[in-house]
This record gives sequence, structure tokens and C-alpha cells, in this order.
Amino acid sequence: MASVSVYQRARRHALKMLIGVAIGVVFIIAVDAWIGHSSIAFAIVIFGLFMANIGILGFNCPTCGSNLFFRGPLMLPWPNKTCNRCGTDLTKVA
Ligand SMILES: [Zn+2]
Repeated sequence: MASVSVYQRARRHALKMLIGVAIGVVFIIAVDAWIGHSSIAFAIVIFGLFMANIGILGFNCPTCGSNLFFRGPLMLPWPNKTCNRCGTDLTKVA
């Protein structure tokens, strides 16, 4: 298996999260149409996405340890290509 950069792995995770959100929205709408309310479906989806999102914490800059998904205090759904703290090119395979 070819080694991939931390950015590529983070991007793959971000894509999975986007697909997860899309499936979650469809699931909530379907349950709402089916049983008339969606609060339980909503709770399940939020919990599922929260659990899946914990993986984001594993994508860190190999130089300084700064997380790819954080720009200072902000968390974005898409990873940085360049570390916003030390400027390391995260698309390069270490
Ligand atoms: Zn860094």
C-alpha cells in the first residue's frame, strides 16, 4: 500500500463526514415523514456524527502537532493543506 500524506487522509475523513451528514439528513427526513416526528432520529444522527468526528483529532501536523481541521479556535469541515501554525506542507508524504 502506498503511503499517503496526512492531508490526504484528513481529506478522505472529511469526505466521509460529508457523506455521513447527507445520509443523516435523508434519514431524519425519512423518519419524520414515516412516524411524524424526528427527534429520536435527530438524536441518533447527532450522536453518530459526533462519534465519527472524534477521528478528526487524529489528523495533526507532523511538525508541531497542530490539528489540520482547526484554524485557531475555529473548527472547519475541511483540512488545511499547509499548517496554519508552522507552515509545513501537509500534502507531502513524510
Ligand atoms: Zn505545524
